[in-house]
Amino acid sequence: MNNREYRVMDSFEQLKQDCSNCSRCILGATRKNLVFGTGNEHSDLVFVGEGPGEKEDQQGIPFVGPAGQLLDVMLKLIGLRREDVYICNIVKCRPPQNRDPAPDEREACSQWLQRQLALIDPKIIVCLGRISATSLISPTFKITKEHGQWYEIDGRKVIATYHPSALLRDVSKRPEAFADFREIRSALRALGHPCDPLSFYSSENKETENDPVL
Ligand code: SF4
Repeated sequence: MNNREYRVMDSFEQLKQDCSNCSRCILGATRKNLVFGTGNEHSDLVFVGEGPGEKEDQQGIPFVGPAGQLLDVMLKLIGLRREDVYICNIVKCRPPQNRDPAPDEREACSQWLQRQLALIDPKIIVCLGRISATSLISPTFKITKEHGQWYEIDGRKVIATYHPSALLRDVSKRPEAFADFREIRSALRALGHPCDPLSFYSSENKETENDPVL
């Protein structure tokens, strides 16, 4: 069943409730908190990361550590706030020691993500990092070679870029990631979203005025 066929089955609150009781894989046994997702449940744009880390597990919110702060900056650079988009992960429970989620764990959790996507019905999905891209685009996806390219999946535009954690470890990748975000901004503008950093900076977020621009 693809994510469009799930739509009629769910409400968002019911889905979160059902997911909070999930024990389909071993990650459910060690989680402190389920990290279901956060943001605008009606957004045209969904970011899908890999899995919760320690801070996310403690708070039950995705991308709350330094990687999340970097993601927030990159969103601002294309005129978006976190609450304008929806952010979630391939697996909803933290893999111990921040290891990659195993294939069987990703498979077990995929139904939750597909049902989320069915309800949100975004026009654009951004895979953050290799694990997300190999799960949603192609099992053979090579993030270093294929990031920034558009794919059409289930009638949606899908693109991958580096995970913010990778950009924290290796700043030399940031220009490529910024180029990917410019692609995302162009796609959003084609949908009628202004994505104007100046309008965002000019109001309640004056502290970001010195951020670099794309
Ligand atoms: S990671 Fe996903 S499938 Fe595994 S227990 Fe958590 S919610 Fe369920």
